Amino acid sequence: MRIDGIALYLVNNRFYKPWRTAYGSDDCNSVVIARMVSGAHEGWSESSPLPGPNYSYEYGRGAFLVARDFLAPVLVGREIGSARELNALLSHVKGNPFAKAALEMAWWTLYADVCGRTLGQILGAERDRIEVGDAWGIADSVDQLIANIGKSFDQGFRRVKLKIAPGWDEEMLAAVRSVFPDQTIHVDGNSAYSYAEHADLFRRLDRFHLAMIEQPFQAGDLLHHAKLQARIETPLCLDEAITEPWQAEIAAEMRACRYINIKPARVGGLQNALDIHEICRQAGIGCWVGGMLESDVGKGICVELAALPNMTYSHDVTPASDSYPENFSETPIRMDPDRTICLSRRVGSPVVPVLSRMLPMTADSAFFGVCAEA
Ligand code: MG
Repeated sequence: MRIDGIALYLVNNRFYKPWRTAYGSDDCNSVVIARMVSGAHEGWSESSPLPGPNYSYEYGRGAFLVARDFLAPVLVGREIGSARELNALLSHVKGNPFAKAALEMAWWTLYADVCGRTLGQILGAERDRIEVGDAWGIADSVDQLIANIGKSFDQGFRRVKLKIAPGWDEEMLAAVRSVFPDQTIHVDGNSAYSYAEHADLFRRLDRFHLAMIEQPFQAGDLLHHAKLQARIETPLCLDEAITEPWQAEIAAEMRACRYINIKPARVGGLQNALDIHEICRQAGIGCWVGGMLESDVGKGICVELAALPNMTYSHDVTPASDSYPENFSETPIRMDPDRTICLSRRVGSPVVPVLSRMLPMTADSAFFGVCAEA
């Protein structure tokens, strides 16, 4: 498949309300939308590292610049037959998985378009709909959070994820469990804790029988995740820690977790996501797909990935309309009342943007090959 052209867009989209986590508060997201063209075929993707270098060292504008200056120019005009070939061509850039994923996932949706198949068929999806859960950031008060969680369960969500941060954890969970004693709840520490200071806290959280504790310690700290997992009953889930398949292998070997949250953009794209999914399947580690507040262009890709066989927990893939008043997708993702989402029946990209709605939100763009000539 010859890559005839690439277009990159840096798109800013404002949330209904700021999204608060252990690393701060964001009013507006900043994502890279990529289009890749081969002959009459095209593929679209989205990578959303968040607007500042807080979830990881990457951020929207930074990922756009890396993709524009170092990655896209290497691919245009080349014959690229597989995602592994594409990854080899991008390996001269160290790290930067979100920037690489913008191009790698556009290759997959383009490939699906060339093959005349849906992305789910190409990836090996084994179900036609996926279940999603709800998530709440840090609230102004515990009462407000409890009211929010009540809304989620009333609306039919079967699990809720809560962001935690030092000082917003044990007491908050005791209050939440006093109102919702048996419901499926898990928490996400977003790397804000340390083993030395907080191991005992996490042992005490066992009494809340949480479905899992996501990424309490720093991304590189597999050792302390493994030590904590050996001391607590609650499963640990790794998120930020896993950006490449070899890290999943080490995590499995060290028994550092019982779940891995796979975000295709965080791991450099769909090939690495497939490889991590397979490593986990063989090691008995469950997977699910996490969200990065993407638009429906990116969520559409996540939905297809979430239908793989070793996805054993409900996903953070609610429609973009839950987070943003402005939607620039041609076919917005719809969640059914039972909180499931159907896979796309569209050949190629599951969801494509409407340019006339996306361009007014575009802060920067870059065009290569035939996309530059258009
Ligand atoms: Mg997380």
